[in-house]
Amino acid sequence: MSNTDSKLQFIQEEIARLQAENLFINIRTMESAADGWMVVDGKRVLNFCTNNYLGLANHPRMRRAAQEAIDRWGVGPAAVRTIAGTTALHLELERRLAAFKGVEDALFVQSGFNANQAAIAPLVGKGDVIFSDRLNHASIIDGSRLSGAKIIVYEHCDPADAEAKIQQHLPQYRRGLLITDGVFSMDGDIAPLDRLYEVAEKHGVMTMVDDAHGEGVLGKGGRGIVDHFGLHGRFDVEIGTLSKAFGAVGGVIAGKKLIVDFIRQKARPFLFSSATTPADTAACLAAVDLLEESEELVTRLWENAVYLRDGLQKLGFDTGSSQTPIIPVMLGDAALTKRFSRRLFEEGVFAMGIGFPTVPQGLARIRVMNTAAHSRADLDLGVDVFARVGRELGVITSG
Ligand SMILES: *Cc1c(COP(=O)(O)O)cnc(C)c1O
Repeated sequence: MSNTDSKLQFIQEEIARLQAENLFINIRTMESAADGWMVVDGKRVLNFCTNNYLGLANHPRMRRAAQEAIDRWGVGPAAVRTIAGTTALHLELERRLAAFKGVEDALFVQSGFNANQAAIAPLVGKGDVIFSDRLNHASIIDGSRLSGAKIIVYEHCDPADAEAKIQQHLPQYRRGLLITDGVFSMDGDIAPLDRLYEVAEKHGVMTMVDDAHGEGVLGKGGRGIVDHFGLHGRFDVEIGTLSKAFGAVGGVIAGKKLIVDFIRQKARPFLFSSATTPADTAACLAAVDLLEESEELVTRLWENAVYLRDGLQKLGFDTGSSQTPIIPVMLGDAALTKRFSRRLFEEGVFAMGIGFPTVPQGLARIRVMNTAAHSRADLDLGVDVFARVGRELGVITSG
């Protein structure tokens, strides 16, 4: 490093620290389509890392929809939605998503991350307060910070603590918004949406749920967490993603028409970042078609989740509070987790080790994601490899 670069010394120090603490992320290269099996760094492995819950990311109908959209609409939107980027395709998708989810209106944006940047700031700002679950997703946290509202964290999935925090803080602010993940992406547990709604409603606090991991997964035929709890029309705003179970890419802000219309006027990612491409939009439409036609994929996903979680638990692994196809295998130590993930990969199973800051210090884990694209034989193979590596590393006892 030359002397003139001494101003960048802090970066080298920070990278060295991440490496020393086993927190440096090594990014693997995918060399085939997202599916139950994938070629990763030149090796064919069982894919337990994907959010492609229903196997739609490489589904023939999705591919065809994207190809046809390119032929008709071209490749790029070349404009933001509010200038020349709103095509008939976008509007059709929004109509179909609203009908699928049973809400008054829906706004399609570029990603789930963007949806949170878009939806929060129009509703609350300086002088307002956000009540946020301790384990909310980074995009909720960033969207909340961008809004300028005061952020009050309540304990994870704890409506009583949420109410105590509302009673304590709300009087000092103009208005409040409660935000929770629907399914928590690192633990696979489900927010107690019914009780959170009661608490918020009682105190006149607006409600928002980010259903990124529930969209296409929870509820009847994958209609999401609000459907799962039968809370239609109650939650003010539902955030979703089309980048996970829907197999394409995009985000959605759904809910009461008054609010969605308002967000259309105000949301900065909607006003200042280009529209989603025709290919992605058409693929999302094909995903809605597939979900409305049949519940088979969602049913298979859940059967697989139960089967895999049982298999791992029977071996003696701690799967934390998982209630969904997200199955954490809790290991605690970051170095052990890294070694475990590497050994799994060598044995042909791709499952990501996750550590701080994505999860709290000391709660490192392997996150196992199963999908409808996995067969029983795939899951059996996965469990066998977990057994072998778990015994080798002393996580479970042999027997
Ligand atoms: C994955 C995720 C997002 C981001 O969605 P993208 O479409 O990938 O940007 C947002 N919120 C939650 C809770 C998520 O799990």
